[in-house]
Amino acid sequence: MTAHIIDGNALSAQLRADVSARAALLTERGFKPGLAVLLVGDDPASAVYVRNKVKACQDHGLHSVLERHPATLSEASLLARVQALNADPAIHGILVQLPLPAHIDTQRIIEAIAPHKDVDGFHVASAGALMTGLPGFWPCTPHGCMKMLESIGYELRGKHAVVIGRSNIVGKPMALMLLQAHATVTICHSATPNLAHHTRQADVIVCAVGRRGLLLADMVKPGSVVIDVGMNRDQAGKLCGDVDFEGVRLVAGYITPVPGGVGPMTITMLLINTLEAAQASAAAEGQA
Ligand code: NAD
Repeated sequence: MTAHIIDGNALSAQLRADVSARAALLTERGFKPGLAVLLVGDDPASAVYVRNKVKACQDHGLHSVLERHPATLSEASLLARVQALNADPAIHGILVQLPLPAHIDTQRIIEAIAPHKDVDGFHVASAGALMTGLPGFWPCTPHGCMKMLESIGYELRGKHAVVIGRSNIVGKPMALMLLQAHATVTICHSATPNLAHHTRQADVIVCAVGRRGLLLADMVKPGSVVIDVGMNRDQAGKLCGDVDFEGVRLVAGYITPVPGGVGPMTITMLLINTLEAAQASAAAEGQA
């Protein structure tokens, strides 16, 4: 038996239909959800990512602003732009596309975003809220993975989840979300000896490394759920994940493909966070 595929495009389409409906209602009340995306420099991959985010806003009735700045933009000027957007009532979410040029202190820029507009969920206030179980924006990629688990009705309580990768934007928040859902969580990373020893015991594996062929069929327990966050290119230049999809699908119970898995869910969760920021803004003015 081959694994069931968790289709990120289909789930996204379903969630985005709801985004469109809620955005239309907020717009009627004068709170059209607005996202500002700041791009500094001309990294081609970043340009594609921001274009996709802005297009998703347009497709679902959200207002969006894309600011492109040259790679030579000073840190002070970028801070000033963030502060201006913090004060802009038409903007409910601010996203600074990473990576930033080396002369800019990324953390300083992220911390300048007002936490109630931190729709990427990277501000320490958002990270702290996730850590302590308080309300706040969750980073979009791991949040999208949680939605995928939810979509198959997966009960995490009492299950063993193994997260591979410990970055601030994927691995660590992923582990915290799984923990909050009552899973027993193991975090593996570049200094973990014998990765397969851990993954073979896992009911759920989330792979977020950025290395093609990292997770092979003999590293996976039969029937487990495998979520592939990785984005790599194969020898032919085709997009692929960290998981040996063809091999692992013969062992796992559920698997996410690349492309068409976590990728579309990330943008969907960004739309949802922006919508919720606008909703909170409307509620603060007593109109929600
Ligand atoms: P990162 O480089 O910040 O982190 C990679 C992590 O992998 C590190 O914590 C490191 O310890 C771990 N690692 C490295 N080699 C390892 C090994 N041999 N065994 C176990 N762990 C190892 O990357 P990131 O930003 O967390 O992204 C991870 C991957 O997910 C990348 O491929 C990235 O492109 C992709 N990604 C996809 C989306 C999406 O929307 N689909 C979003 C964000 C990131």
